[in-house]
Amino acid sequence: MTTETTLAGPAFVELGLAEPILRAIADAGYTTPTPIQAQAIPQVLAGGDLLAAAQTGTGKTAGFTLPILHHLSTRAAAAPKPGRPRCLILVPTRELAAQVEESVKTYGKYLSLTSMVMFGGVNINPQLKALRSRVDILVATPGRLLDHMGQRTVDLSGIEILVLDEADRMLDMGFIRDIKKVLAVVPKQRQTLLFSATFSDEIRTLANGLLNNPKSVEVARRNTAVEIIEQSMHRVPQAHKRDLLAHLIKHHDWQQVLVFTRTKHGANKLAEKLVKDGIGAAAIHGNKSQSARTKALASFKDGSVRVLVATDIAARGIDIDQLPQVVNFELPNVAEDYVHRIGRTGRAGATGSALSLVDDEEMSYLRDIEKLIKRSIVRVEIEPGFVPPAKADLMSEERPPRPPQGRGGPRQGQGAGRGGNSSGSGRSSSAKPASAGAKPAGGRSGAPGQSTQARKPRPPAALFAGKPGSRGH
Ligand code: AMP
Repeated sequence: MTTETTLAGPAFVELGLAEPILRAIADAGYTTPTPIQAQAIPQVLAGGDLLAAAQTGTGKTAGFTLPILHHLSTRAAAAPKPGRPRCLILVPTRELAAQVEESVKTYGKYLSLTSMVMFGGVNINPQLKALRSRVDILVATPGRLLDHMGQRTVDLSGIEILVLDEADRMLDMGFIRDIKKVLAVVPKQRQTLLFSATFSDEIRTLANGLLNNPKSVEVARRNTAVEIIEQSMHRVPQAHKRDLLAHLIKHHDWQQVLVFTRTKHGANKLAEKLVKDGIGAAAIHGNKSQSARTKALASFKDGSVRVLVATDIAARGIDIDQLPQVVNFELPNVAEDYVHRIGRTGRAGATGSALSLVDDEEMSYLRDIEKLIKRSIVRVEIEPGFVPPAKADLMSEERPPRPPQGRGGPRQGQGAGRGGNSSGSGRSSSAKPASAGAKPAGGRSGAPGQSTQARKPRPPAALFAGKPGSRGH
């Protein structure tokens, strides 16, 4: 949402949305539609199919939610029945599902429409109960939706509008067959909207089979996270990282920081250590129950917990406005994950910074990352105020993660998803240094393009907690 583009666009009232929706938009504090909203809303209101190229952070959710709410609230349901939704929004992950449904509720709060969210990994009974009532808008991940279809607990014969959100990610995560099964049962006569950040041949094929004479809208590719987020790193032994992080949080008075670890176990241990140091922290990863994850995320969002420690897959889809600081407690062993991680910051016009704590063992990961992002990450000396822990305290520390051999190594802590939103969604063109008062440590820079040949042996499997290939929902 760059200022230049939004100011040039129409006002929400000019888009023709119903009054209760405009009121909810005003309550949300939005004054002007984002570019994707300005383009998509009139197209969806006109009733045709839509192919939209938009990344997370562009306001795309409201881009389809607002006109859908308008349609459903201004025309009567053909044959209203419990468990027979009128609109189905398919999304790749449970986090995104929860967020989209939250948007539906936010923007639909003055309407009498009902919605529900459906995803796997949680008890199915509350979903079965919800389906025994009226559900106008169903937000679902494909796997759990298929379970319900198999049990005939949901009836998709009344779908008037179908949305595929983040379609590229759904394909990346292997949902194509599930999507086809859903398409086989929804009415042919319907409005279909497909949102995707990228347009591969596979997406085009899907769109051709799915959409009927679609209008296409596209927002100019915004500056990528890599371009706008201040990125820096400290060289630090793995065994000193926890103490350093606690020191940095206090020293910089960071109030909201998302910290990435490579393992679920590491996430737990780090959160525990921070809490011991008097810093409110919670861990979020795939081993936690959905309710624990939702609770941790809510506490982080409302500021009652300052630090959220997450593994890559758990952080997918997390949308926190104005998240100022991301810390890579360990570098990811897959370079693209770095871009996903830092894309969590710098959203909604806020500046963001990403600080990586890098042990010697991780230098080959760093080189891979710098090669991918085509820039070098600024090396910053640790402030003199930091006193490393005494040797005795280090005895209990884990060994640092060691890089696997070659690219074919396992992708730990990582589901099958390879998101298309790697460029993040920040909107600012400036960023402040991650470590105020810290000096660049010149001379140690592993410049992009350096050789990545010198690989260390593969790490023992026990260091990693993720199941390669597990799905993110
Ligand atoms: P999305 O791309 O749908 O994930 O939206 C990114 C963020 O932008 C969300 O946190 C929305 O609350 C926010 N947002 C959406 N539309 C607007 C708007 N018109 N003005 C300001 N913020 C918005």
